[in-house]
Amino acid sequence: MTLQDFKLKMVSELSSIYEMDELNSIFNLLSEDYLKIPRSKILLADEIHLDESNQTLFLSALERLKTHEPIQYVLGKTTFIDLEFKVNSSVLIPRPETEELVRLILKEDLDGKEIFDIGTGSGCIAISLAKNLPNAKVSALDISIDALEVARENAKLNNVNIEFIHADIFEYHLDKKYDVIVSNPPYVTESEKLKMKKNVLNYEPEIALFVNDSDPTKYYEFIINFSKNHLHANGQIYLEINENYKYDLNLLAQNYEYKIIEFKLDTHNKIRFLVLSEDNQLEKNTH
Ligand code: GLN
Repeated sequence: MTLQDFKLKMVSELSSIYEMDELNSIFNLLSEDYLKIPRSKILLADEIHLDESNQTLFLSALERLKTHEPIQYVLGKTTFIDLEFKVNSSVLIPRPETEELVRLILKEDLDGKEIFDIGTGSGCIAISLAKNLPNAKVSALDISIDALEVARENAKLNNVNIEFIHADIFEYHLDKKYDVIVSNPPYVTESEKLKMKKNVLNYEPEIALFVNDSDPTKYYEFIINFSKNHLHANGQIYLEINENYKYDLNLLAQNYEYKIIEFKLDTHNKIRFLVLSEDNQLEKNTH
């Protein structure tokens, strides 16, 4: 079997699940990872013969993809802010929006500051911040032991030091202040869940994604309240949010008397981020 034969088989068996450009990118990711060849070489797919062990690799990936398993879990890894992260079904696959959140934070001059990531999952936010801010002190909390195991591996893989904390944020007490509190908490409501695809629903951890329709902003309320006692006077909160709850979140931030309340758009022009701070001096930096 040549690589081209595999590609044709893959396209015919997965075309009901994926668009053609998604199929192309999945094919490229598999070829790069399994054959360790650059993208330019993949163009010569009909000249590349797959030996028996490679055939087994490609065909078993195809079987997993047919069940709607995300390519990132099939490969066991993904890229986030140009860094490699291991992933498995205990952690959410890092999303491009969350990369935007990290890039927003990296616009600030935060090296040497203390940063706290609540609900770290794979560790993608904490680790990419630590990598880009070598003197920052980054702590990251998660309720899931399995997620923390992945996050710890990722910190090692990317050669950064993070303080990992295993706790339920709702039960977590500490006597400490940070310069930045960041979180991408669960924000998809159970009713929005009905519209989601099988690859998310069957494989990604529910605990990282969903909130009850009856209390969709509970993580935000807790974090905004928590930050009142755990943020330095000129500190900032960075949150990834669900656009549908922007009014509730705005009200929450006002109730907790944050002076600067900024909603920011993602590249799809959806309101996706909320940045809060107390100190007017920071206003110029966050625009
Ligand atoms: N952006 C993710 C999604 O729509 C949700 C992430 C989250 O709940 N924090 O799948």
